[in-house]
Amino acid sequence: MKVGRKKILKSTDLCKICGKSAVRYQGLCKICYKKNWKKSNPEKMMFYGAKERARIYELAFTITIDDIVIPKRCPILGIPLTVNENKAGLNSPALDKIIPELGYIKGNIQVISHKANNIKNRATLEELVLLGKWAKRVINEAKRT
Ligand SMILES: [Zn+2]
Repeated sequence: MKVGRKKILKSTDLCKICGKSAVRYQGLCKICYKKNWKKSNPEKMMFYGAKERARIYELAFTITIDDIVIPKRCPILGIPLTVNENKAGLNSPALDKIIPELGYIKGNIQVISHKANNIKNRATLEELVLLGKWAKRVINEAKRT
């Protein structure tokens, strides 16, 4: 008879984080383990998320996990980037396609904040320049009055 290598856990052991649910993996319950994994592996989360979007929207996808580098701050807005356990916030890192239609290829991706990504989302780079010029003019005019 073969003896399983898996450590048998007592069902009475409780999760190290929430202390409520039964232990499933590495001293944590299924939910806390998943949350913990997401928080510790943001590059992988972004990679697989992007891969799925590329499949759905039929975009090029040739990047590897190593191409995803999360900077300390958003390269556009300068705000600190933080990885949330649950839902992504405005400060969370987002994988941006510089020119969306080129897809997820080397040289066309960068990690920016969700906030910058939201601003950039529906506009072309040219439209963003126009918007920026307009905002600058309006701000300057408001300062003069
Ligand atoms: Zn738990």
